[in-house]
Parts: sequence; C-alpha cells; structure tokens
Amino acid sequence: MLLEDIEGRKTACLSSQVGCAMGCAFCKTGTLGFLRNLGPDEIVEQFHYLRERCGFISNVVFMGMGEPLLNLDNVRKSIYILSNPAGIGLSMRKITISTSGIVPGIIDLAKNGPIVRLAVSLTSADPYIRTELMPVNRKWPLDVLKPALLEYQKSTNDRITFEVVLIGGLNVREKDAIELANWITPIKSQVNLIPWNPINGMPFKTPTVRQIEKFSQILLERGIVTVRRMSRGRGVMGACGQLGDTLSFCDFTLKPSNTMINRGND
Ligand code: SF4
Repeated sequence: MLLEDIEGRKTACLSSQVGCAMGCAFCKTGTLGFLRNLGPDEIVEQFHYLRERCGFISNVVFMGMGEPLLNLDNVRKSIYILSNPAGIGLSMRKITISTSGIVPGIIDLAKNGPIVRLAVSLTSADPYIRTELMPVNRKWPLDVLKPALLEYQKSTNDRITFEVVLIGGLNVREKDAIELANWITPIKSQVNLIPWNPINGMPFKTPTVRQIEKFSQILLERGIVTVRRMSRGRGVMGACGQLGDTLSFCDFTLKPSNTMINRGND
C-alpha cells in the first residue's frame, strides 16, 4: 500500500507475511492466522509495483500484513536489496520496521543489523489490557520489552516510535495516558496515536475526538512527542489493522484524509 503525507512524501507500506500469527484483538489481519512468509523477492516486488505506478518513493515501512521480526531473514535480505547503492539505494534511516514486540528479534536487530528505525505497537502500558489486546505480551511482557528497546536504542541512538491504537472505553482513560507516559519516559521516543478503525464483526469502538485530544494532551504535558494520526485508507479497508478484508496491497488513489501533528519537547 502507498501512503502519501500532506507534503506529498510517499511511503511504501510493505507486508512481510501473508496473514499474521500474532492475533492482536483489534486487527483484521490477526483473524486470518498465519498463512506463509513472503520471500525477499516478494517484499521488494511490492516496492517496485508501487514505484512503477506512483513514482518516486522516499520511505519504506514494514507495517503491512504480518510481523516482520518473525520473518527477519527475508526482511533483512529485502532491506539490503532496497538499500543497495547499485539499485534503489534507500537510506537505512528511511526504513522502519514495525513490531508487536518480538524481543529476540529486537535483540537480533540490535546485534546484527540492519540498523533501521524501529516502531513498536504498544497500545497500552497496562499489562492486563495489553495482554488482552495483544497476546504477544504473555510471552514478552512489558518489563522484558523495555530493556530490549533500550538496548536497541543504544545501538541506533535514534528515537523509537510507539504506535498506540486508541479504542473507545478500553485504553483511552486519563489513567491509561499517565501510565503510558510513565512507561515510555526513559526511552527517547515518539508516540503515534491511532484511533481504532471500525472493522466489521469486531466489538470495539472508535474513541471520540475529545478523548483523543485529552489523551494527547496528557502525553504532551509530560514532554512526549505525540502525533495524532487520522485514518488513511478506511474507504478501501486498507487502513491500519484492516488488511485482511480485501487482501489488497495497493490503493493508488489513497491520500491521507487528515494528519494532525502535535510536538512536545522534541
Ligand atoms: S497488528 Fe500487526 S502484529 Fe498484530 S495481528 Fe495485526 S498485523 Fe499482526
């Protein structure tokens, strides 16, 4: 899928697997289960497919279907191909891997590279809520995840992006925001707040604008760089967590409906 921001910068959002084994409760892809890993050729092909149709692409994010750190060998090979100066020559700083929190994969990346940008789907700093929404928290709980992230940060000296899917009535209370801020504070980071996208057959609610504003305000007051993201791709069921209804990788008419950026102490 292609994402284009308000300045016209284009990002290829690549899938690393068909389906996903992680079973995040808010994600349509999770309901498919794991079908198979994509090979490095299939990952790079997504980039070429988008570039042929959409023109110059400056960034890559592994945020499509699948958990990239469970297909790390192939993701790694695809990154080396995409960054090879004899080919596309993408800078490692323009590539982001997004993980649900696979600790051995984070440590492997820190030790063996490639040193790309890291995004973590955090969603809640409350262990009970996180486990309910993201079963990965049973195997690699928050207190195991944090030291791995700090180790990764030591090798990159770059900030880590935390993706927080906000779900009405579940993780948008004042207490949730304070807990999240406290958990994140030792890590140099940016938080992306993503209101949950409605998905047929799922029991969750999108939070209200007021709840999102309040949540964002609490993080900003604590000096956390916070970006409020509005949905991209809802119309084609291709927004975050919706891949799976269409199995579609690409929507060429996709434009961000709105992206609001708030910055705290950067
Ligand atoms: S949010 Fe990501 S890791 Fe979780 S089920 Fe969906 S695709 Fe997999």
